Amino acid sequence: MTLKHEILLIEDEKNICNFIATTLRTQDYKVCFASDAANGLSLAASGCPDLILLDLGLPDMDGIDVIRSLREWSNIPIIVISARTQEKEKVEALDAGADDYITKPFGTSELMARIRTALRRSSMNNAPVAGQNRYAAKNLIIDYEKHVITVDGSIVHFTQIEYKILTFLARNSGKVITYDTLITHVWGPYADSNNRILRVNMANIRRKLEHNPADPQYIFTEIGIGYRMIDNENG
Ligand code: CA
Repeated sequence: MTLKHEILLIEDEKNICNFIATTLRTQDYKVCFASDAANGLSLAASGCPDLILLDLGLPDMDGIDVIRSLREWSNIPIIVISARTQEKEKVEALDAGADDYITKPFGTSELMARIRTALRRSSMNNAPVAGQNRYAAKNLIIDYEKHVITVDGSIVHFTQIEYKILTFLARNSGKVITYDTLITHVWGPYADSNNRILRVNMANIRRKLEHNPADPQYIFTEIGIGYRMIDNENG
């Protein structure tokens, strides 16, 4: 018997709650719920779920503050499910520490895929070494120890900045990284946070990496928000 992953659903709309819970149970997850932030936070602390699905519009507290409060003590993966579609709000949730973001209405298969990715990444982060010195997806391999990147079996050279951008996205593969997070990581906290230099570097990275930079298969643009790198197959 395999151990079931437990998912905490914090959502005040009963219909959505029932729908998601039923879907999760048929996929063999254990589910517990809370219909407001206070109960959600207390269940997160007492139940130690493996992942949290969080609605942003809750009766007693804004979901963004729930994320901040959870992140004070926990690295548990958080996927936001929300009717808020504005880029600004997605960025705010991701910057507050959410792992991913799905806009309502969403398809079940997309939700399941995001959950699997988040769970897999969190188990990789908790594993001591395995899968952490190498990234592999399709025909791309990054060897972090040797600083060597190969595409279709040939070594490809990247500038130091390009390497930093690429490896940061690879280490966070599957997850949306906002422009600001990436800029801060590469150029430091006092960097001018305009995206132009980042975009120039990304264009160069894609030229070296992708067969068709206009139709990328490794690094995807989440318009107005940031980038998402294809999930590591090496984990
Ligand atoms: Ca709601």
